[in-house]
Amino acid sequence: RILIIDDDEDDYILTNDLLARIAERSYEIEWAGSYQEGWEMLRRHEHDVYLIDYRLGAQSGLDLINAAVAAGCTAPLILLTGQGDHHVDLQAMQAGAADYLVKGNMSSEMLERSVRYALERSRTLEALQAAKSAADQANLAKSRFLANTSHEIRTPMNAIVGMAELLSVTALDEEQHDYVATIKQSCSILLGVINDILDFSKIESEQLKLEKVPVHIHELIDELKNLFLPIMGVKRLELAVCIHSEVPPVMLTDPTRLRQILVNLIGNAIKFTPEGKITITVVAGEVQAGGQFVHFEVADTGIGIPLEQQAHLFQPFFQVDGSTTRIYGGTGLGLAISRRLTEALGGSIDVKSQPHAGSTFHFTICAEPAPSDESPQLPAQQSYPTYDDRLDSNFASLYPLRILLAEDNLVNQRMARLILQHLGYAVDTASNGVEVLDCLEQQAYDLVLMDVDMPELDGLETTRRILTRWHDGRRPMIVGVTAAAMKEDIERCIAHGMDAHVSKPLVVRTLKQALASCHQARTAHAERPVV
Ligand code: ADP
Repeated sequence: RILIIDDDEDDYILTNDLLARIAERSYEIEWAGSYQEGWEMLRRHEHDVYLIDYRLGAQSGLDLINAAVAAGCTAPLILLTGQGDHHVDLQAMQAGAADYLVKGNMSSEMLERSVRYALERSRTLEALQAAKSAADQANLAKSRFLANTSHEIRTPMNAIVGMAELLSVTALDEEQHDYVATIKQSCSILLGVINDILDFSKIESEQLKLEKVPVHIHELIDELKNLFLPIMGVKRLELAVCIHSEVPPVMLTDPTRLRQILVNLIGNAIKFTPEGKITITVVAGEVQAGGQFVHFEVADTGIGIPLEQQAHLFQPFFQVDGSTTRIYGGTGLGLAISRRLTEALGGSIDVKSQPHAGSTFHFTICAEPAPSDESPQLPAQQSYPTYDDRLDSNFASLYPLRILLAEDNLVNQRMARLILQHLGYAVDTASNGVEVLDCLEQQAYDLVLMDVDMPELDGLETTRRILTRWHDGRRPMIVGVTAAAMKEDIERCIAHGMDAHVSKPLVVRTLKQALASCHQARTAHAERPVV
C-alpha cells in the first residue's frame, strides 16, 4: 500500500501512472492532496511506503518527514522534488528519508527500484531490531537466571557446609575425619564456582558497581603473599615480589576487585606450575589526565600456553584443553572476569607464554594517587583479626553475648543454633521480624543475628523498627545474614542501620569474627553513660 502525498493533482496522476505501468507488482495506491491530509493518514500507519512531495503548499515535505519520524513512523518515506538540489537531498537523508527522486527524471523502473529497495531495507532493519531486542532480553534473562540459581544453590549449601562443620567436631575415627574433610574441601570449591558465576552474570548484566577508596599497594601484595605462601610451600614453589619505588604507595581504586584479579592470576600461576618460581612485579606507568597507570605482572615457570590458544584465554568458559580441567579443575571464568575487571578499572590485560617455559600475565589499572593522609583500606576480609574454624566451646566465655537468632528456614535455624551452642552460647530463636520484636520486648539481648529475607516482617524493616524503639546501650547490635553476598546486599544492610553483615553459608571463622567484634563494640558502648 503506497500513499502519495502531493498537492498537485497532475503530478499525482503522473506518479500513479508510472507505478501502474510496473506489470509484475500490484500496488494499492492512495492519494493525499495536502500536508494536513497526508499527516492525518501518516499517523494511522496504514501504508507500507510514502511518496512525499517536497512542496506542499506553504509547507515542506521535509517538515512532514521530520514529524513522521518523530511520531515513530518506521515505513520508508521517499521525497519527490521538481528539481534536483543537493542541499535538499542532504536534508532529506538527515531527516530520515529512504530516498530522494527528481520527478522530471523519474522512470517507471527507477520508481519501482526505489520503492523495492526502501521496502527491503526497512524489513531488514525491522528484523534486525527485533533480533537485537530478543537477544538483549535473552541475555538479561540468562544473567538473572544465573544470579537466581546461584542464590538458590547457596541456601542448601549453607546447610551442607554448616553440618559438615558440626560433624567434624563430633567423635570420628580417622577414616570418617577424612570423609568430612573432603566434603568441606569440595564445598569450598563449589562455593568458588558459584561466586565466579554470580560475579560473571553481574558483570554481564552491567550491575557491577566499583568503589574508589585509598588502597595501599604494598599491604595488598603482602596480604596476598601471606594468603598463598602456605600452598606454595606444599608445592615447593618460590615466590618473589618486586614493587618499584616509583609506584605511588596509596592509590584510589577498588580494593576488592584489584585483589580479585591478583588472586585469579596468582592462583592460576600456582595451579599450572609444577615446579619453579612465581614472580609478582608492580611498576608505575604513564601519568595522564584521569590518573596514573600501574602495571602488574604475574610470571610463572609452569606448563605455558600454546600461541594459538592465547587469543581465546580471556573468553568465558575457555580452558586450554579438557585434560587440564580434569587435572586442575576450574570453570574457565577467572580470566574472563579478570579482563572485564581490569577494563572496569581503566586498564587492560594480556599474556605472553611459551609451552613448557612458563606464562606471564600482565595487566594495568588506571588510578589516582591518593593524598598520603587518607587511611588506606584493605578488602573487608582483612579488617578483623583472623579466627580459625574450630568450634571451641569457651569462645562464649571470651566474648559473652546474649544472642537472638532470627531465621525462617528451619534447617538453617537449627544449624546456626548448633554452631552457636558449640561455641558456648545459649541462643533464643525467632522465625520472623514480628517474633524478633516480641522477644526484644520481653528480654534484653546484646546481638540479633538477623536473616534479611523473612516472611511477615523482613530483616530490614525489623531493623528500622528496632532503631526507632531502642537507643544507645539498650539497642541490641544487629548483624544481617543474607544468602546474596554481593556488595549491594551488604551496603543495603548497613544503609538500613545494621552494624555488620555476614553471608551464608555461615562459616565458623566469619561468624567468630562477627561475634568478637560485636562483643568489643558492645563493651565500648556500655562504658558510655546511657542518657
Ligand atoms: P580456570 O582456571 O578456572 O580454568 P581461567 O579463566 O582462570 O579459568 O583460565 C582459563 C584457562 O587458561 C585455564 O584452564 C588454563 O588452561 C589456562 N591458564 C590460565 N593461567 C595459566 C597459567 N598461568 N599457565 C598455564 N595455563 C594457564
